[in-house]
Amino acid sequence: MKTLNDFNFKNKKALIRVDFNVPLDDNLKVTDATRISCAKPTIIKILEDGGSCILMSHLGRPKGVQDKFSLKHIASKVEDLIGVETKFVSSCVGAEAEEAAANLKPGEILILENLRFHEEETKGNRDFAEQLSKLGDIYVNDAFGTAHRAHASTTVIAQFFPENKCFGLLLEQEIKSIDKVLKSDDRPILAILGGAKVSSKITVIENILDKVDDIIIGGGMAFTFVKAQGGSIGNSLVEDDKLEMALDILKQAEAKNVNIHIPVDSIIADAFSNDANTKICNINEIPDGWMGLDAGPKSRKQFHEVVMKSKTILWNGPLGVFEMENFANGTIALGNSIAEATKKGAFSLVGGGDSVAAVKQFGFEKKVSYVSTGGGAMLESLEGKTLPGIAAILE
Ligand code: AMP
Repeated sequence: MKTLNDFNFKNKKALIRVDFNVPLDDNLKVTDATRISCAKPTIIKILEDGGSCILMSHLGRPKGVQDKFSLKHIASKVEDLIGVETKFVSSCVGAEAEEAAANLKPGEILILENLRFHEEETKGNRDFAEQLSKLGDIYVNDAFGTAHRAHASTTVIAQFFPENKCFGLLLEQEIKSIDKVLKSDDRPILAILGGAKVSSKITVIENILDKVDDIIIGGGMAFTFVKAQGGSIGNSLVEDDKLEMALDILKQAEAKNVNIHIPVDSIIADAFSNDANTKICNINEIPDGWMGLDAGPKSRKQFHEVVMKSKTILWNGPLGVFEMENFANGTIALGNSIAEATKKGAFSLVGGGDSVAAVKQFGFEKKVSYVSTGGGAMLESLEGKTLPGIAAILE
């Protein structure tokens, strides 16, 4: 596995695929620069070696060229965060981009215009990838968030750098964190899967059954399992076409000696609203007209015990509707348990869009071992797939 530290970038132009797909407000100001900060170590290492950085990224899902998706809006933020003057070129291929890249001196940074202004990017077009490849001497992929896409700049481009391609420091760390969970010797290994739908996580569950000792199934997903086992779940979220599959997963888990932990109680509400009436109820005795929106106190205690005995912990998906204050406490309690276990030496990885949002919102970011930057990429890795962007560097 070739990483940044296998190269000396002195007098070299590094063509780096970063994930600068950051949120912008109505005034086109960056509202969360986490993704830019995450790319900083890679950029700094290359500049300190005496090389220069050509940064390429997508921003949003533009239809053709649309000013509001221009990467020029984030250039000053990059400059602030990296602390180095940053140039911008309003194209990513062609004469103008080639000239800007050719004129770049050691220690300088150039940002290319949004890759997705060209439909060839998402189509994985070979000619477009070849044009991009002309801009740099060494290709660095540091964009985990798009590593599951076989796009021109994330995958196809790598073939034009047979010897001179590597993972950036962020992508290297992401790969190592996932390996640390899926290939860990530090047992027990626990996976916590929450969120809304079982259907979006079936392949993950099936893949990790061979790798973990315990699985907590929480959030909306749990009700499909409870109903499949004959429980009454009232109006809670359920996928009726997945009941058989839920039973099959429980059977597979038993055969593989994996303990599946399903909540025993729930905070139920008479409407999907923060202002709804609520009460605590056994999870399999929810009356009609009521729905489970958070893990109850017995479940929190039960999950705390499982978390505390685990040495390796993966968390994907909230335990309740954490966006509403009154149904966030189960997710917060779980975050506290994971923070405590981490403090005692467990390795904890949090990944997947909503759990990352929850971790940030409730201040657990610094209390877990690693927070992944990729939602879809993380899920596909957990499904056991080799991501195209990763495979292209390894080939
Ligand atoms: P996912 O993207 O599958 O991880 O799902 C995240 C979403 O699941 C969040 O928006 C939560 O509000 C939602 N969620 C978690 N628990 C429940 C529940 N008991 N009922 C309905 N939605 C839930």
